[in-house]
Amino acid sequence: MQTLVADHPLVTHKLTALRDVETETPTFRRLADELVTLLAYEATRHIRVEHVSVRTPLGTADGVKLARPVPLVIPVLRAGIGMLDGMARLLPRADVGFIGLIRDEQTLVASTYATRIPADLTGRDAFVLDPMLATGGTLETVIGLLVSRGAATVTAICLLAAPEGLARLAEAFPDDLPVPVRVVTGALDRELNDKGYIVPGLGDAGDRLFGEI
Ligand code: URA
Repeated sequence: MQTLVADHPLVTHKLTALRDVETETPTFRRLADELVTLLAYEATRHIRVEHVSVRTPLGTADGVKLARPVPLVIPVLRAGIGMLDGMARLLPRADVGFIGLIRDEQTLVASTYATRIPADLTGRDAFVLDPMLATGGTLETVIGLLVSRGAATVTAICLLAAPEGLARLAEAFPDDLPVPVRVVTGALDRELNDKGYIVPGLGDAGDRLFGEI
């Protein structure tokens, strides 16, 4: 598994404001949206393209267009929904699938409660949106499902990551796997606490995006 910590000053600037306990939901949503677009720029660096040429007013130019089948973007419910618009801005033609997992607060084990993902992902680049890579349990399940359905590449985009989660994914998806697995994140934080929250982190991403329901 490859990891990219996108430590661009604009990413860190937005992330710092996002972490701030004083940042309220409307601002949090906007910052998360903007941050995803910046991370998506890095995350799509290896996206599959086809070479094409276009006629310009003055001649012919070589260029590329996104290859078919179109990429699949999968926000992980519920917090990943807060990242969808920011991703779709860069990939407006991508298909969108959904997956929902719930974490048992005692065991921290994640189980799937909703899946809407094509059965055959052959040849497709898949982009998973999950703001917090904490224990890695959710992403291990989601990435494993995408790989088992034939995805050509899987890239997880996370606002923040914990070392424990990255280590778990690196073990589950070693570099010699035929399917490249990547994680692109805005920062690598210190650790998880005993409730599985990232420290210093930003708190509960779903609650800060959508309220405590
Ligand atoms: N999920 C969150 O929303 N926050 C964390 O810190 C960890 C998991």
